[in-house]
Amino acid sequence: MVVPIPDSPRPTLWAEEGEAKLVDIATVVPLLPIDRRFSFAIPEKFSGQVQPGLRVRAPFGRASRLLEGFVVECSRQPWNNTLKYLEELVDVQNWLEGRLLQLGEWMAEYYGHSLGPSLAAMVPPAVRARRGFRKIRQIWRTVEPAGPVEGSPRLGPKMRQLLQHLPVFPQSVAADEFCRQHQISLTTLRQAIKRGWAGERVEKIPAAVPDFDEPVNEPQYQLNAEQQAALEQVKPAVDHPVFRVFLLYGVSGSGKTEVYIHALQQVLSSGRQVIIMVPEIALTTQLVHRFASRLRQVAVLHSGLTDVQRSLIWNALRSGEKQVVIGTRSAIFAPCPRLGMIVVDEEQEGSFKNQQAPRYHARDVAIKRAQLENIPIILGSATPALESWQHAHDRPHYQLLTLSRRVANLELPLVELVDMRQEERRYHDSIRLISQPLEIHLRRVLEQSEQAVLLLNRRGYARVLKCTRCRERVLCPRCRATLVLHQSGQTLLCHHCYFRSAIPAACADPSCGGRLLATGPGTERIEEEVQRLFPTARVRRVDSDTMVRVADYEQVLAAFARREFDVMVGTQMVAKGLDFPLVSLVGVIEADAGLQQPDFRAGERTFQLVTQVAGRAGRAQAGGRVVVQSALATWPVFIHAARHDYTAFAERELALRRQLHWPPFTRLVRWVISDPSESQARADAQIVAQTITTLVEQSAMTEVEILGPNPCAIERIRRLYRFDVILRCQATSTSRRIIHELRVRKLLKLKSRRLIIDVDPVALL
Ligand code: ADP
Ligand code: ZN
Repeated sequence: MVVPIPDSPRPTLWAEEGEAKLVDIATVVPLLPIDRRFSFAIPEKFSGQVQPGLRVRAPFGRASRLLEGFVVECSRQPWNNTLKYLEELVDVQNWLEGRLLQLGEWMAEYYGHSLGPSLAAMVPPAVRARRGFRKIRQIWRTVEPAGPVEGSPRLGPKMRQLLQHLPVFPQSVAADEFCRQHQISLTTLRQAIKRGWAGERVEKIPAAVPDFDEPVNEPQYQLNAEQQAALEQVKPAVDHPVFRVFLLYGVSGSGKTEVYIHALQQVLSSGRQVIIMVPEIALTTQLVHRFASRLRQVAVLHSGLTDVQRSLIWNALRSGEKQVVIGTRSAIFAPCPRLGMIVVDEEQEGSFKNQQAPRYHARDVAIKRAQLENIPIILGSATPALESWQHAHDRPHYQLLTLSRRVANLELPLVELVDMRQEERRYHDSIRLISQPLEIHLRRVLEQSEQAVLLLNRRGYARVLKCTRCRERVLCPRCRATLVLHQSGQTLLCHHCYFRSAIPAACADPSCGGRLLATGPGTERIEEEVQRLFPTARVRRVDSDTMVRVADYEQVLAAFARREFDVMVGTQMVAKGLDFPLVSLVGVIEADAGLQQPDFRAGERTFQLVTQVAGRAGRAQAGGRVVVQSALATWPVFIHAARHDYTAFAERELALRRQLHWPPFTRLVRWVISDPSESQARADAQIVAQTITTLVEQSAMTEVEILGPNPCAIERIRRLYRFDVILRCQATSTSRRIIHELRVRKLLKLKSRRLIIDVDPVALL
């Protein structure tokens, strides 16, 4: 007996009795945070079009709610009558073909996030929305020329004209153009289609892709011996593509970029594509221009792109029309079917870590992608992340490439450490911002018409109010972070929750009531101070208060390059890859500010910042000088930075990390629980810690530590109390297993507002 399946508009399936009929099945994950996969039958009309990675719409659950999801697997399986059909194919293009889908699966598992949302995070929203296609209506004539229709005397003149000019199928024309050319109204056209005299079809064609290529304006250098040696080591992995991680360690100005460019040119000449990752486009415009002028078919993913442009770039990469993509984090998911190499510049930068779920580290995802694609990857830095440095020494697939000197015999700048405690003692003045040595150098720079950069290491925390009696800072009543004084407006502002208040009259502690004093220089104060010392100097401030848009930043840099001002004062924004030949002095003010953060990476970050900003001095001429002011000037981190001795710094810091069981010698996973109720958050954090402890005991895992629950360093953000639990273990397999168990067995049933899981966190605040 044959059994027809009811529901006739859908393709009919027939099954012989006693013998299961095989059907095409798509396994789909919805875009919701659900850890389940669902099977759907593929209707015949989609046969051959459904592949893993494609986005579809399907009826999920008992209520058959139509939801979007990604196909993760296709198979042939026996028919069973609970199967529903896929409803719609959402994407024209498959954005997650081949290795990209595997990368997404790895990412979801590794970072402890549901698969559907993880896959969605890989495709830019603009691309998902299918932006950037023009709709074109093609029309043609279906009736014979000079046939009975045209013979009819009742045909109007316009309709007659239409039929006369419209080409016969299989030829066709674009409707808009046709109507304009022959002055035929849309009504007439509609009539013709309705009567069956004309046929139509709507096509979507991509609009033109933005072009980023720039004329070559830079000489192709003869590589020096060290650069050549580095390139020679990369070459075999390009000629016979194989997964290798090259850590290109070179002081600033040692010609790393030139090595990337040569290696990339070689990959491109073999017809393959490359991804170049940079920490932030706005801060690396000079670098981007260099790539764009030396490589061809370049696409740049920057924040100024429209959705349409972004979508077009994705298309152009997928089709192979563009060969090079330069971008920040999300560039790592670019659909390059012939990927041949990945470069991650400034690989140590914290901005590669995504701060929303999935909290992936783009450098680590890049390494994973290179592994899946079996291609080489170059990580470049003057101050490699200690993880990368350690791996370069103890992992077989890593290779360290060193550029030890600046090119063209340029010297590294002289770094002078100024101990601010001595300065203060000497001048009996605790609010001195610019030390005497820095003042002397500034004077020289101004007299010689050179330029200077002054950096304040305060990540946007500026001046704060301190009690002169008990020394307490004025804190935010909502998050307990230190409130920052903003001169413009005479207000206090919390940089975490944007709480605002007027300036209080006295210390908040009623038992003290001391007078409040503004301390801790902000960039505004330094600007004022320089102006006070040198009234004729042209000073400008670059920080997130003054630089609201990317364009502001570009403008001020261009003005600095044109020497329209002499001194640039700024936050760490000024430390990044800028290259100004006339900057002969760099001053770092309060270099120890970052060291006070309760984070095991504080020393590493301080070293990176000082080294990076020091690299800004003397890029084109000898005699660059750096003055580092610190109250902790005798600390090894400053001494190593002053000597440009990354190796010694790394050795010392790694020894400490090993001793104290911090990464790279351990793995961290951090859970952050937040809730408006402190006791709720605390109780849930307790549950998290307890659940993990039980898991560890049950499965007899070893070398695992559970730290917490503890209140976070920033105890409250936006009125939510925050607690964290940190898992520290030796093997990645252990942390992955714990994350997996918690998810699959749904062990965490919490009432708190938010639960964040952060694998390999870059900050513990
Ligand atoms: P890094 O990326 O290590 O900071 P760059 O690649 O920017 O170094 O090189 C610093 C400067 O030296 C750049 O202006 C670059 O054009 C130039 N340069 C690089 N390689 C050479 C070379 N082999 N000979 C001469 N100049 C070079
Ligand atoms: Zn007080």
